[in-house]
Amino acid sequence: MKKISIIIPAYNEEESLPFLYERLDKLMNEINTYEFEILFVNDGSKDKTIQIIKQLREKDKRICYVDFSRNFGKEIAMLAGLDYAKGEAVIFMDADLQDPPELIPELIKYWEEGYDDVYARRKSREGETWLKKFTSKMYYKVLQSLTRVPIQKDTGDFRLLDRRCVNALRKLRESQRCSKSMFSWIGYNKKEVLYDRDPRIAGKTKWNYRRLIDLAIDGITSFTTSPLRVSTYLAIPTFILLGVYFIYVIAKCIAIQEAIQAFQAIILLILFFSGIQIMLFGIVGEYLGRIFNETKNRPLYFVNEYNGEKETNE
Ligand code: UDP
Ligand code: MG
Repeated sequence: MKKISIIIPAYNEEESLPFLYERLDKLMNEINTYEFEILFVNDGSKDKTIQIIKQLREKDKRICYVDFSRNFGKEIAMLAGLDYAKGEAVIFMDADLQDPPELIPELIKYWEEGYDDVYARRKSREGETWLKKFTSKMYYKVLQSLTRVPIQKDTGDFRLLDRRCVNALRKLRESQRCSKSMFSWIGYNKKEVLYDRDPRIAGKTKWNYRRLIDLAIDGITSFTTSPLRVSTYLAIPTFILLGVYFIYVIAKCIAIQEAIQAFQAIILLILFFSGIQIMLFGIVGEYLGRIFNETKNRPLYFVNEYNGEKETNE
């Protein structure tokens, strides 16, 4: 029997887990043509999440878990899931039941037809504010305009990946991760499945706008270096402007035989150019930060224990 791993990053999800297990258990019992492994990655939760996972594993050995030494963030938790999953295919799911487990048979069906990356695309986004919907729409637009790699719209991390996608993703070990862009970047046969995204079953969302903006910037800078070109695009008209203004001032001085009096204009210019410089430094800093992080070459996470066994980091 083929084995399928369901990877679930969980951070402070004590309220959702019982519901999640109930739904997954029902589903796994219905599909008896596959062996399932539910791999929780406990991302340094501060509540009873890990205790609940351990209790579940007591009575159901299909439950496995990786317990992080602290909170490393969802992206890193997903990578750990890929590292520890044993299945021939993996499915990423959120712990809050926003991704309905009932879609899993359909994902598997397309996998059996030969697709490597079967991703779920949202038809609706219930329980989200219009501002979140609007910003995410704009973000996809910007991201797509910056790169030739096709970006999947309205798609989260809910998807099934064949083993070779898993192995490919495990080779991408950068620290500022944006899984969404990595799924696109690795390629392979993709298939879209539509679904209705449900509101979170219990607990609170872990995302806030700061985290989303961080993720958006990581997404763009991990995908493409074209923001670097902004400096070129801005520098060209700036220098043309400078040249024209310089000629104008000199010509005027010669024509009316008078010294330059325009200190206000100079102040404005100083402000203008220093504004541009600050912005360009910001862009350079963005990439410098990435280089800095990658050259450190640190392990991306540490595991406290795996299925009850302590990791010694040897
Ligand atoms: N999550 C995580 N680490 C974090 C934040 C979130 O593992 O630092 C998990 C969380 O437990 C959930 C999933 O990532 O399973 C999605 O989080 P959430 O539902 O809060 O995000 P949203 O659905 O609002 O985008
Ligand atoms: Mg959620």
